[in-house]
Amino acid sequence: MIEEEKQSNQTKMFADLNKREIFEQAKTYAFAYADQIPEMEVFPSEESQKLLQGFDEALPKTQTSAQLVLEQLNQLGGPNTIAQTGGRYFGFVNGGALPVAVATKWLSDFWDQNGGLSLTSPINAKLEMVCEKWLRELFSLPDETVAGFVSGTSTANICGLAAARYRLLKNAGWDINVKGLNGAPKIRVIAHQEVHSSVKKGLAILGFGSENIEWIPSDDKGCLDLNHLPELDALSLVLLQAGNVNTGAFDPFSEVCDQANAVGAWVHVDGAFGLWAAACESLSYLTTGMEKATSWAVDGHKTLNTPYDCGIVLCRDEPAMISALQATADYLAFSDRREPLLYTTEMSKRSRAIELWSCLKYLGKSGVDEMITGFHLLANRLAEGLKVHDFRIINDVVFNQVLVACETEERTKDTLANIQKSGECWCGPSTWKGESVIRVSVCSWATTKEDIERTIRAFVHARN
Ligand SMILES: *Cc1c(COP(=O)(O)O)cnc(C)c1O
Repeated sequence: MIEEEKQSNQTKMFADLNKREIFEQAKTYAFAYADQIPEMEVFPSEESQKLLQGFDEALPKTQTSAQLVLEQLNQLGGPNTIAQTGGRYFGFVNGGALPVAVATKWLSDFWDQNGGLSLTSPINAKLEMVCEKWLRELFSLPDETVAGFVSGTSTANICGLAAARYRLLKNAGWDINVKGLNGAPKIRVIAHQEVHSSVKKGLAILGFGSENIEWIPSDDKGCLDLNHLPELDALSLVLLQAGNVNTGAFDPFSEVCDQANAVGAWVHVDGAFGLWAAACESLSYLTTGMEKATSWAVDGHKTLNTPYDCGIVLCRDEPAMISALQATADYLAFSDRREPLLYTTEMSKRSRAIELWSCLKYLGKSGVDEMITGFHLLANRLAEGLKVHDFRIINDVVFNQVLVACETEERTKDTLANIQKSGECWCGPSTWKGESVIRVSVCSWATTKEDIERTIRAFVHARN
């Protein structure tokens, strides 16, 4: 009986696959969604959000047809998405998704590759190597730099910090993989106050503890203030930032890296969205000297507009990175090939290098430059347009981030609330030097000049 049931279920699943209908159905929904994106409410209305209650149901006792599963998701789920693939979503630093990469993901979803090993996915292993090489070139990083393909910059930061911890202790005669943290020489973590919350999370996970961090003040732009940089030594781990999450500002890499390299300290750069400035001719001055750091974290899913989840850790100390992430010194016995899982905290993992490769191949060097420089130009256009309407622009728009305020904090908050309700565009709140501000991040390929004009009108309308 049970055998028979299993048979019939499986037959049904084969039918789902072979008849292609559910894929046509998904495609129809997806295209209808894409068609409505330009005029869709950027954030779901309260009415739409009520639809989510439709998911409050008991676990189905028996099978549901694939058609019904997709239908429910489309009807109740579609209206509860953020219009992130449109041109007027400026929340957090999210970025859109290039159509070519979404199509690539569709195709590779059919492949369902486990990207952990070259044995589990030769194509992913190959494309990781290609991306590693191309990223080195785009960011002008040293030849020995290796890359790990992870879920995002949060994880990339953890990988970089773990490699740093391994190396600094190893150089001090302490093998953390064998001896652990108890009684280890003390690593000096040196960070400025504007470090991203994901870095704090990584430091906590790795057992550094917030009280052990030597916090140094940041300047008025949100950069590390060189005047307060303490003397570094061979147990120092310095955390720098390419792209402050509020102002978009960049730390003084060159000076810090020179001091660090002279004494064998480690510099990790969190460049989630900002490292991409290095790939743009007119913006690369922002990242001058960052190539002298030891490790870097960057996202594909923000500025480059790959779909989620795509983060990259880059490190020029391969033995430290592999040893830290594998907790074994004899990693080379693993295989004589470059194995993707050696460079990440994961074993089984999504083959995200496929979409990353697709974006890089599609855009090429000049396309990456053009797209990202475009974000900068549009961010400036927005800032200038808002100034004309008497909004205050709080930051120097050096990259893609714009901080906006009205004449009073209360008016700023009301304006933001109205913007968020309008459905015309979406931005989030932030606090800068104690003041509530509106934070705008321009980082989607889909944002046009018209979107910027429309956003300016939405701001003006929301303030009144
Ligand atoms: C977004 C961001 C992170 C975290 O990256 P995820 O991809 O969300 O994990 C870290 N640092 C900065 C500066 C960021 O903007």
